[in-house]
Amino acid sequence: MTVNLLGLGSRQLQAFCADMGEKPFRAKQLLRWIHHAGADNFDAMTDMAKLLRERLAQCATIMAPEVVRDSTAADGTRKWLLNVGTGNAIEAVFIPEPNRGTLCVSSQAGCALECSFCSTGRQGFNRNLTVAEIIGQLWWANKCLGRGVEAERPISNVVMMGMGEPLANFDNVVTAMQLMLDDSAYGLSRRRVTLSTSGLVPAIDRLGEECPVALAVSLHAPNDALRDRLVPINRKYPIKQLLAACLRYIEKAPRDFVTFEYVMLAGVNDSVEQARELARVVKDVPCKINLIPFNPFPDSGYARSDPKAVARFRDVLMQADYTTTTRKTRGDDIDAACGQLAGQVTDKTRRKQRRDAVSKMANGFMEEAAQ
Ligand code: SAH
Ligand code: SF4
Repeated sequence: MTVNLLGLGSRQLQAFCADMGEKPFRAKQLLRWIHHAGADNFDAMTDMAKLLRERLAQCATIMAPEVVRDSTAADGTRKWLLNVGTGNAIEAVFIPEPNRGTLCVSSQAGCALECSFCSTGRQGFNRNLTVAEIIGQLWWANKCLGRGVEAERPISNVVMMGMGEPLANFDNVVTAMQLMLDDSAYGLSRRRVTLSTSGLVPAIDRLGEECPVALAVSLHAPNDALRDRLVPINRKYPIKQLLAACLRYIEKAPRDFVTFEYVMLAGVNDSVEQARELARVVKDVPCKINLIPFNPFPDSGYARSDPKAVARFRDVLMQADYTTTTRKTRGDDIDAACGQLAGQVTDKTRRKQRRDAVSKMANGFMEEAAQ
C-alpha cells in the first residue's frame, strides 16, 4: 500500500523515514520539497540519490484532492472546488487584499451542527476531511497562485472558516495546522492562522493545549434563548460556558483577544437592544467583534440586515468600546461568500444528484481544459 506523504505531519514523516532506514533530516527535506516547492513527484527531488527517489516512488505518493472547478470573481476572489470522492465536493477560497492574501480552508464535507442560517449545516454531515485534503487546499492554492521567495508568497493568512466545524475534526485539523506553522512547510505565524468554531467547549480547551492559534468564535446571538435556535450546539455548551472557555484560551493564545463573529439576520438578531445586550454579555472577555452580513441561499428563511441596521448595531458596540468591523462580502458572484460554499453539490438528501453534479462538473472542467 502506498502512503500519501502530503497528509503526514513532521513527526509522522520522521517515523516514515525511520521505517525506510533513512536519517531524520530526510523528513525535513521531504517537507521542504512537498510544501515549500510544491513537488508532486519524487523525480523533482534532485538532492536525493536516484535510488532513494525510486524507493520512495514505490511506496509513496504526493496527492492532493482533484480540482474540478476554478473560478475567479469580479473582485479577484478565487475559488477552487475540490472533489474528495463519493460525491463530496469541498471548497477553498482565496481572498486577495492590498496587504495580505487569505485562504479560507474547509475542514469537513458538510457539517453536523445544523446552524439554521448556514447552507453547509443544511446539507448535513458527510465526512471529516483527511489531513491531505485539508493541507492539500493550501498546497494547491500556493501552486496555483505562484510561489517564489517567502516574502512574495501570495498566501499570508489562513482561516479555518470554510465548510465544516474544524474542532469536530480535531486531530486532522491540528496536524494540518501544524504543517501550516512548520518552518520547513508553510512557516505561517500562529497569529496568521485563525480557527473559527461554533463553540465546542472541551475542544477549545484542547486546542489551547495542543495548537494555540488565533481564535474566532461564532456567537451570533446575545442570549441563550436565541442562540439555541441559531446555533443548536449552544444547548450543550451555553454562552456562559463558551465565554469562560474563551477566557481560558486567551491565556494560551498568540493574540490577547478572541474575535466574535456575528452574522446579521434581518429582524432576528440585529436590533439596537440586542447590540446593547451583546455589549453587556461579552464585557469580561477581551475581544473584537466581526459583523458578517448574512449571505442568502435558497429557502434559508432569513434575510440580510439592512446596512443601516448593521451600522446602528456597530455604533452601539463601538460606543461600548468594542473594536467592531463589518466583513466585506467577497466573491458572492461565484458563491464563495461565508455559508454559501459548494451549495448545490452537497445536499445530503440528494446524494445521487450530488454525485451526478460532481461528475458533470468534472466533465465540464475537463472539456474546458481540453479547449
Ligand atoms: N464551523 C465554523 C467555521 C465555518 S463557518 C463556525 O461555525 O465558526 C465560518 C463563518 O461563517 C461562521 O462564523 C459562520 O457562522 C458563518 N456563516 C455561516 N453561514 C453563513 C451565511 N449564510 N452568511 C454569513 N455567514 C455565515
Ligand atoms: Fe457547521 Fe459552522 Fe455552518 Fe454551523 S456555521 S453549520 S458549525 S459550518
